[in-house]
Amino acid sequence: MTAFESLKAKVGKFSLANKKLLVPEMGRTVSHLVGATMRSFGVDAQVMETYKGLQLGKQYTSGKECFPCQVTLGDVLYHLEREKERLGEAFRAENYLYFMAESGGPCRFGMYNKLHRIVMDSMDGFSKTRITSITAEDSYSLGGLMGPEVRTHFRRSAYVGLVIGDVLDRMLWRTRPYEQEAGIAEGYLEKALSVMCQEMETHGRKKRFHRILSTLEQVVKKARNLIDPSIPPKPLIGMVGEIYLRSHRQSNQDLIKLLESHGGEVVNASIAEWINYVSYENMLKAKREVVFALKERDLKSLRRHFRNWLKNRTELAYQYFRMDQIYRRVRKHLPIHEDHRISTLERQLDNDRLFSFKIGTEAGLSIGGALEYCLHGYDGIVNVFPFTCMPSTMCSAILKPILDRMNVPYIDAAYDGTYQPNLEAIIRTFMYQATQHQQNRLSQSA
Ligand code: SF4
Repeated sequence: MTAFESLKAKVGKFSLANKKLLVPEMGRTVSHLVGATMRSFGVDAQVMETYKGLQLGKQYTSGKECFPCQVTLGDVLYHLEREKERLGEAFRAENYLYFMAESGGPCRFGMYNKLHRIVMDSMDGFSKTRITSITAEDSYSLGGLMGPEVRTHFRRSAYVGLVIGDVLDRMLWRTRPYEQEAGIAEGYLEKALSVMCQEMETHGRKKRFHRILSTLEQVVKKARNLIDPSIPPKPLIGMVGEIYLRSHRQSNQDLIKLLESHGGEVVNASIAEWINYVSYENMLKAKREVVFALKERDLKSLRRHFRNWLKNRTELAYQYFRMDQIYRRVRKHLPIHEDHRISTLERQLDNDRLFSFKIGTEAGLSIGGALEYCLHGYDGIVNVFPFTCMPSTMCSAILKPILDRMNVPYIDAAYDGTYQPNLEAIIRTFMYQATQHQQNRLSQSA
């Protein structure tokens, strides 16, 4: 089989039934909760250990790839090698399906699974492991992966799991900077994650969301006790950037913890933001197509695009409904930072003067998100991305002069797996500026 035939035959939408699904870990909480939701639907999903195989990822790439591509490649190779060692003669590569989503547009993310395919084909024993994929282009449609009777149902339960993951992360970021004893907030998060995964696995398929959210409320309520109320509010840092790098703490060398160790409280953009953005963007695209079909008086296209618009509109409305419901219930017990609407971020782009969603990529979200943080009085902004990431570099070029004029401290944090010797000094200076910003802000509001 040639490389092109292999790409066609072994990368695509394959049924998840009777396979062990290997899921890469991005944000720890979200990956495990979505994995648990998959298991509740009968999928044998396993979140792979991450970052242990980085050397393998680097060994089979040239160094010109995006860093997440190397990390995720390392994760799957490491996992399959361990499985081979564990099972010996009984190892069957065809029993596994490797899950790697993709997107279109200028981001090379759409190419990761192709490169991973080529590497896996070149290795002894892994060429029979197929790569199953979903794409942002069709709003992550699950056609081909699951039966039509459960697709919408699964998608919605997975979204709930994902928002719960965001909420647990926000619980950690809200409590860890003020914890009574070093390490208790992280320890509590691990226990909370395990409780919530159990809930999703048991009740996700049955859509017992009230039961799941009641447990979440109890979990968050107890987290209040981790906080030492005598610690004054710390400078608030907003994080934006490329979704993998800002969510995968090994790849960003635990940047949130580093900022906290220098006196900050950090809020990272959520993972739900990206899913909401995909629905929002596809809805806008369909709307443009409806207008075009109307002008052309093409009734057949008009019907198709209108149906597509309605589908994305309904999905987005459902997502916001669940997101609001979850945050409302949790914020009764602990004031975690709320998530925003995508249209709010788009408004920050000043009628496309700063950037346009029509260009695509995460740059629009990062620029809009950073300006939204500023509007809410944040004391500093960090933009996190893989070294050489094009959308994040555009974002940096646009944000730097604006934030400079607004006197809001800003830094770029680019990662490629190496260690910057001066990172600590950069963070220290940034946090000093953020502390001054906070003092000015408080004195002005006093
Ligand atoms: S560097 Fe940025 S734009 Fe390029 S593939 Fe990676 S995430 Fe996408």
